[in-house]
Amino acid sequence: MTAFEAVIGLETHIQLNTTTKIFCSCKADSWNDPPNTNICPVCTGMPGVLPVLNKVVVEKGVVLAEAMHAEVRPLSFFDRKNYFYPDLPKGYQISQYDQALAFGGYMDLPIPATGERPAYIRQVNITKLHLEEDAGKTKNADGQRLIDFNRCGVPLVEMVTAPDLRSADEAAQYLIRLRQLLRWLGVSDADMEKGQLRCDANVSIRPVGADYLNPKTEIKNVNSIENVRDAIEKEIARQIREVEAGRRIQAWTLEFDEEAGVLRKMRSKETEADYRYFREPDLLPIRMDAAWKEAILVDMPELPLERRERFGQDYGLPEYDADILTSERSLSDYFEAAVKAYGGDPKKVSNYLMNDVLRMLNESGKTASQLRLTPVYLADILKLVDAGTINTSTGKSLPQKVEDSGKSPLNIVTDEGLGKVSDDAAIRAVCYEVLEENPNEVSTYKGGKDTLIGWFVGQVMRKMRGKADPTLARQILEELLK
Ligand code: ZN
Ligand code: MN
Repeated sequence: MTAFEAVIGLETHIQLNTTTKIFCSCKADSWNDPPNTNICPVCTGMPGVLPVLNKVVVEKGVVLAEAMHAEVRPLSFFDRKNYFYPDLPKGYQISQYDQALAFGGYMDLPIPATGERPAYIRQVNITKLHLEEDAGKTKNADGQRLIDFNRCGVPLVEMVTAPDLRSADEAAQYLIRLRQLLRWLGVSDADMEKGQLRCDANVSIRPVGADYLNPKTEIKNVNSIENVRDAIEKEIARQIREVEAGRRIQAWTLEFDEEAGVLRKMRSKETEADYRYFREPDLLPIRMDAAWKEAILVDMPELPLERRERFGQDYGLPEYDADILTSERSLSDYFEAAVKAYGGDPKKVSNYLMNDVLRMLNESGKTASQLRLTPVYLADILKLVDAGTINTSTGKSLPQKVEDSGKSPLNIVTDEGLGKVSDDAAIRAVCYEVLEENPNEVSTYKGGKDTLIGWFVGQVMRKMRGKADPTLARQILEELLK
């Protein structure tokens, strides 16, 4: 039997997080607003109005293009994409066609290892990157068709990959990395559930090793990464069944029914010629001269995948740590600042971040830069442990105390008397107490159950509110129990 491989390309629509819309000054984000409240004659397509391009849209588009290693055109144009739909009041969408903002580009996508194969890099090329306006929303309710124009004119980047992805997992990884990148760059909030990152998937199959392309189907608007993976997997399986049964794949557009988990045929697809593209006569071309481009890119950050690589090399972090610490920009900035302030083993800083700090972030909903436990305070805690001023268990409880109080670690240690007690006599007195209060455990220990020593140490630590030097406590207990 023939073995097949999948050939997948993803078409994404990315909602840029600008304050205002692309061609008017209406508020762009309407997530919490009632229908038809952020609209004006421009975005509702009234006769006689003129669009005015929002400069920030172009700037965010250039930042994204740069991050995708795409080439920005010195001169690009807007075009009209003509089609009729009730939520498109102008009867056309202002988009870019043959001379778009940027061209080319790629992402070197890391695919994690599984039990069966090692990790590898998949290069995903970009075939299209352009600016356009969004359309409105329609919904059916009680037999009526309702239209909300709030989303008309919200700025989008449409970005399309070449058919370079080979499995549903690779497609999911691409979306995960794209979402990470968009948030990192600060160009989009990229929340799929809010439609800020939308994805259509083009799927076909071919015998493994073939280099031609078969007819593809297009899966429309699936709104979570899990659903994209699920829908693609099901579509690959369906195409293989069809071909093995001797049938041909037809170029359908499919819709994923999330509730039922099945794909349904929507329509046969339009071709580009149906849209009758022509230059938008109401807008000037975008002239991206060197000075403007330079000004836009002056704050261009190091990209997440590059930083991930560097964290492995510079700090000797395992890939697992590097991946989590670069999952979000402010967390990775935090890590570097803490390592710098500490000056010791970066892996120790990473351990604190991956346990205590991440838990704090999850619980509070803050970003790392908003914590009262600053990188310098975290480094202070590590230094206090290293110097033997506090023991490790106090070191574990301090981050939360700093976060709750906003006080420095040293102040808390002084105020609460948390300094490690290394005074032999003080610990010895408590050890006596513990042994006296627990005669049963003492005889069990003496009967040969050595592992109870940890329990005795625990009792001493508890009585001394965690401040005893645990190594010393253990030595004394072992001596007394002989
Ligand atoms: Zn408007
Ligand atoms: Mn589009």
